[in-house]
Amino acid sequence: MSSSKHRYGLLALVAFFLAAPAYAGASFDALFEKADAIRTSQPKEFFRVLNELQALEERSSPEERMKIRLMRAHGYLLEGKPDSAIRDLEEVRVSAKDVEIKYRAAAMLANTYAGNRKFEQGLSTLNEMLPLAPEVKDRAARHHGLLAAGILYNRVGEFKLAGEYASQVAGDGPSGRNRCIAENLIIESMQGQGKELAEDQIFRAIEHCERENESLLAGFSRTFLARKWHGEGKTASAIALLEKHLPGVEKTGYPVLVAEYLSMLAEYRLKMSDIQGAEKHARAAVAQGDSIAGSLPLVMAHRVLYEIASIQGNPVRALEQYKKYAEADKAYLNEIKTRELAYQLVRQQIVQKNQQINLLDQQNQVLQLQRKVDQQAAQNNRLIVMLLIVLVASIGYWAFKIKRVQLSLKKMAETDALTGICNRHHFTIRAERALAECARNGEQAALIMYDLDHFKNINDRFGHGTGDWALKEVAEASKGFCRRIDVLGRLGGEEFAILMYGCDLRAAARVAEDCRVRLAQIDTRETGHVFAITGSFGVTSSVQSGYSLARLLSHADRQLYRAKHLGRNRVCVHENESEAVRAASNVLELPQRERSEHLGA
Ligand code: GH3
Ligand code: MG
Ligand code: MG
Repeated sequence: MSSSKHRYGLLALVAFFLAAPAYAGASFDALFEKADAIRTSQPKEFFRVLNELQALEERSSPEERMKIRLMRAHGYLLEGKPDSAIRDLEEVRVSAKDVEIKYRAAAMLANTYAGNRKFEQGLSTLNEMLPLAPEVKDRAARHHGLLAAGILYNRVGEFKLAGEYASQVAGDGPSGRNRCIAENLIIESMQGQGKELAEDQIFRAIEHCERENESLLAGFSRTFLARKWHGEGKTASAIALLEKHLPGVEKTGYPVLVAEYLSMLAEYRLKMSDIQGAEKHARAAVAQGDSIAGSLPLVMAHRVLYEIASIQGNPVRALEQYKKYAEADKAYLNEIKTRELAYQLVRQQIVQKNQQINLLDQQNQVLQLQRKVDQQAAQNNRLIVMLLIVLVASIGYWAFKIKRVQLSLKKMAETDALTGICNRHHFTIRAERALAECARNGEQAALIMYDLDHFKNINDRFGHGTGDWALKEVAEASKGFCRRIDVLGRLGGEEFAILMYGCDLRAAARVAEDCRVRLAQIDTRETGHVFAITGSFGVTSSVQSGYSLARLLSHADRQLYRAKHLGRNRVCVHENESEAVRAASNVLELPQRERSEHLGA
C-alpha cells in the first residue's frame, strides 16, 4: 500500500481555497464577486458580505439564489458544518441553470464528500461534474473541479486517472496556487503508480508551493523527497530534511501531516539505530490522537514502537505494542478498502448507466430503422400503385388504340373504298343475316339488283375519274332509298344491290323504279360534262325465290339481264311463271343536248 493515500484529506481541504472567478455587473453581482474574492482570505468580512447577500435573497432571481447558496455553503464549511454545506451544494448542483455555478457547486461538493470520507458520493458527484468542465469558461473554476477529481481519484487509489486530471490543470496555465496543488497531485499519482520520481520535479513543486506561501503543500512535497532519499540510502539527508521543516509543519496545525513527519522520522531514526530519537518521534506521532485514526503514519509509529520493544528484549511491551500495531494496520487497510470499494461501486454504477444508455441507443436505432423500413415500404407501395396505374392506363390506352385499329380494319374490310357502302363480301354476310331474321319472323324480303348502263362508255368518253364520280353519286342516291334495316352493297364494278327487309315484291319494284328515276336525274354538270346515268334493275322477293341469297341474286340477276336486253334503263320483276316486265316510264326528260350525250338512249 502506498503511504501517500492518507494525504488527500489535506488536499481536499486546501482545494476549497481556490481563486474565485470574477462576476461583474449589478449590485448583486458586485456583492457576490466580493464574497467570492475574500471567502478564504478574510473570513470575518466574508460572513458580513454573505449576510448582505442573504438579505437580498427575497428579491433575487432563482439563479441569484443559487449563487447565494453557493456562498452560504462555503460559510458552512468555514464554520465546520459540512452536512449543511452538502445540503445547499446538492441543491445548487441539481437546480442551477448556469453551468459554471453548477460546476463550482459540484466541485466544492466533491471535495466536501472527500473530506468527510463519503467517497462514493464524492465520486458520483465527479461523474456528474466532469462532463461539464469544457463548458466552464472561467479557468480557475474549471481547474478547481479538475483538481477535486485529482484529489479524489488519488484518494481511492485510481492514481492514473488522478494524474491525468492534475496534468490537465498543470498544462492549462494554472494560477500559482493551482500549479502547486496540481504538481503535488501528479507526484502522488506517480508514486502511487510506482513510477520513478525525478528530484527536480519535487523541488519544482516545493518551490511553486513556497512561492504561494503554501507551506502545508510544500510540507507534503518534502515528504516525497525524504522518502526518495531514504529509498536511495540517503536516510541521514532525509532525516535532516524532515527535522528542518518539522517546526513549520507543526505550525500549520494539521495533524495528519505532523504525524506523517513524526512517523517517518521515527522509522528513519530506527534505521539509523537511534532508538531514543525513534521512540520520541513515534510517541509524538501516536499523540496526534483520533485525527490520524486509520492512517499510515499511525501504523508506522506503532510498528516502530513494537520494534523498539522487541529490540529492547521486553516481550510483554513488545506484544502490547504489536497488538496496537496490528490494530492500526487493520484500521488502515479497512480505510483503504473502503475507498477502493467506493470507486468500484461508482464505476459499476457508471458501467450500468452506460449499458442502459447503450441499450436505449440500440432500441432507438431499432426504432429508427423500423421507421425507415416503414417509410420505404410506404414509398414502395406508392410506387407499386403508381406502376399499376401506369400499367392499367397504358393497357387501357393500347386496348383503345387496338380496338380503334380493329374497328377501322373491320370497316376497311367491310366497306367499298370508293363509295363507302358495303362491299360484296360484307353485303353477303349482312344480307344473309337479314334474310335469316325475316325467315324466322315470317316476314318477306326482297332483292333489288342494278347495273349501270353503258358505263364503259362513260369511262371512255369522260375519263375514269368521272366514272368514279358517277359511281359515288349512284351509291349516295341509292342510300336515300334504304332504311336502316335494309342492306345496300356494291357487288362489283358498276353493279349494286339492295336487300329490302320485310318488303314484298311490289313495294320493292316501286323502290327500284323510284331509284331508277332518281339515278337518271343525277346532275352531272359538276364533272364538266352533261350525260345521263341510267341503270337496269332486276327485282325478286322471298315469295318468288325463297330466303336463299344465292337464289335471290340469281333471280334478280336474270331480271336485270332481261332489262338490259329489253333496252336498258328499266326495272324487270321476277314474277313466278309469268315474269312481267316493268318497263321504265321511258326515257328521261333530258334537254336535247344532254340527251344526245346519253349513250344508252
Ligand atoms: P352494259 O350497259 O351492257 O352494262 O354496258 P357496260 O359498258 O356498262 O358494261 P361492261 O361490262 O362492258 O363495262 C363495264 C365497265 O365498267 C368496264 C369498266 O371499265 C367499268 N368499271 C368497272 N369498275 C369501275 C370503276 O370502279 N371505276 C370506273 N371508272 N369504271 C369501272
Ligand atoms: Mg353496265
Ligand atoms: Mg356490269
